[in-house]
Amino acid sequence: MKPNFYAGLELDRMAERRGDQAWIESLFRKPDSRLVPVWRSRNLVVEGEMPQAVFLSTIEVSATLNGSTMFLGLHGETAYFAADLSPVEEAALPGVVGPQGKFIDLRAVGAVMDRQHGALLAYARGLAHWHSRHQFCANCGAPSEAAEGGHVRKCTSAACAAQHFPRTDPAVIMLVTHGDKAFLARNNRFPFPMYSTLAGFVEPGESLEETVAREVWEEAQIRVTDVRYQSSQPWPFPCSIMLGFRARALSLDYKIDNIELIDAGWFDRAHLRARHDPDKFRTPRGDSIARRLIDEWIAEEP
Ligand SMILES: [Zn+2]
Repeated sequence: MKPNFYAGLELDRMAERRGDQAWIESLFRKPDSRLVPVWRSRNLVVEGEMPQAVFLSTIEVSATLNGSTMFLGLHGETAYFAADLSPVEEAALPGVVGPQGKFIDLRAVGAVMDRQHGALLAYARGLAHWHSRHQFCANCGAPSEAAEGGHVRKCTSAACAAQHFPRTDPAVIMLVTHGDKAFLARNNRFPFPMYSTLAGFVEPGESLEETVAREVWEEAQIRVTDVRYQSSQPWPFPCSIMLGFRARALSLDYKIDNIELIDAGWFDRAHLRARHDPDKFRTPRGDSIARRLIDEWIAEEP
């Protein structure tokens, strides 16, 4: 099965050697090691028809990094690191990263750039975001510091010594169908006129199938059965993994709150297959698993 966008990264994360600080430092000093810069949750990209990720030389930018780098892994012999440049003022960025590219939201270009590069930028962005939000120990409040090549944060209080690991929040996203119709809705945060699948976060003490059923009921008062896993997608915007499902509705009845969901309905396969004026109706962006769930369902029947 083809991986979703931002998944399928061909990088050996070398998790078993992350604790070897001397080895990581030696990799960082190699002239061909590459640095993925992140600035305020944005990635460095040269825009255009085929947007290009910009990778820097670890050595050239190391002076400005203050030791705050994350080891991403090895691609063949080449080591990849990420660094969060957020403290650098915008006007000073070209002096640090050079004249090429612009820091932009990955979601604006993810669907049209090289898949491997998109996945690498997503990984760097997600890890950098976690560090930025976990500077203090959640157990005792003391400052925490990065360890294991940036894949752990350790509490600096000897009495506490808690370790914290990068966080990924599981969310389910599901296409609800009934015969030849699929249920799509417009959230008040969606750009007009985009309709998408329902989604929601997994709560403690819930199986994924239970989350799917609960969310569909809460958002649309539809009872579902036959909840089936389809595929998953890392979604570090800022820190989720999307778990894609399909579910069958027991009836066509539904009711939305008209606050969070401002419109919804059952859409025929033929309607979803047809070309629409994108100013009147459209499905989600091409890099999203929501789009894939819809497109795969559409393609099933001739
Ligand atoms: Zn602590």
